[in-house]
Amino acid sequence: MGRLILKPGKERSLLHRHPWLFAGAVDRVEGRVSPGATVSLIGHDGRFLARAAYSPHSAIRARVWTFDEAEPVDHAFFKRRIQRALAYRAAQVCGTGAVRLVFGEADGLPGLVVDHYRSVDGGRQQLVCQFMAVGVEAWKGPIVDALVRETGCAHVYERSDVSIREKEGLEQTTGLLAGDEPPELLLVDEGGVRYQVDVRKGHKTGFYIDQRDSRALIARNSAGRDVLNCFCYTGGFSLAALKGEARSVLSIDSSGEALAHARANVLANGFDSQRAQWLDADAFRTLRSLHQDGQSFDLIVLDPPKLAPSQQHVDRAARAYKDINLSGLKLLRPGGLLATYSCSGAIGAPLFQKIVADAAADAGADVRILGRLGAGADHPMLAGFPEGEYLKGLWLQRI
Ligand code: SAH
Repeated sequence: MGRLILKPGKERSLLHRHPWLFAGAVDRVEGRVSPGATVSLIGHDGRFLARAAYSPHSAIRARVWTFDEAEPVDHAFFKRRIQRALAYRAAQVCGTGAVRLVFGEADGLPGLVVDHYRSVDGGRQQLVCQFMAVGVEAWKGPIVDALVRETGCAHVYERSDVSIREKEGLEQTTGLLAGDEPPELLLVDEGGVRYQVDVRKGHKTGFYIDQRDSRALIARNSAGRDVLNCFCYTGGFSLAALKGEARSVLSIDSSGEALAHARANVLANGFDSQRAQWLDADAFRTLRSLHQDGQSFDLIVLDPPKLAPSQQHVDRAARAYKDINLSGLKLLRPGGLLATYSCSGAIGAPLFQKIVADAAADAGADVRILGRLGAGADHPMLAGFPEGEYLKGLWLQRI
């Protein structure tokens, strides 16, 4: 087995059980190693630190499989990791047709995402996977076999059409991994609402599974309220608000296709479409013009796409987040509620709160923080891996 010998003093993050080794920490590579091969990470003093997948093209040069020297990385390893991930979900997540079964590093399987959908239409079960690092790519066959065996779900589809693969020297790819082609749409139940999910072409693996807890929060707080949902995509929060008996729901997205899908979702649930209005428009501009038109709302959701894809985009993204939050707060009636999010990993929770606080100051609004929001329990967070906490939200009330 190949070995990566670290530079002096570079073993610290591994000793803190952080699962990434950056290229700059590597002193030398010993033995014959290929992309995705299992290597031992060795401190400068010669001690074993971890067993990891070697990624020669990426700045993240190795991703840790195990810190236990006695644990080999073989078929049984992947079976155990998947069993552990499933046991955790069985204990923590229930009553929903869409669950993230494997969340990469947090489940000891760096670079792997596996989502499970159960359709209320005929009960079809579907797994959708993303392989985002050479390590899991190299073990794809055994991983898919173990997934099918352990979940009892025969159908596995791959959605590795993510640009992060290019950093690993891998091409983007999609397609069937096991079982049959997925149907055009799956009909998934979450909290009594039915969502049509397009696993082949939808965002991520077809649905924003990570916002489950927030959809429930919006449903609980919508009764009798005028709701504004910006960046609505296929209507996740809009449907939750309608389920929660909102008086009206105005939803904005710049994708006509997403809006058509959202409208179909309203019909699939038999909701009164009179209460739902849809705007195919740029949310940044529309928020400003709604204010100029004298409109206001009782509950606003701001869930934009990832505005800071990396560290170098943080300043510009911070201005954009501030812009929408400023406009959103101006549109909020006194006592009104705002759920505002950032899914940019490069913007940490303290910075996001500061941006929102600056926006509130500029809007002349006092806001109280009712709660902090994030992905559901099926997106676990490792204590030693803050990078895993990409989605952060604030639940605010205008005083
Ligand atoms: N809130 C959604 C997910 C949002 S994904 C949910 O819970 O399902 C981000 C969405 O923002 C996409 O649908 C995309 O079409 C939309 N979008 C991106 N830029 C936009 C803009 N400038 N104005 C309006 N919508 C935009």
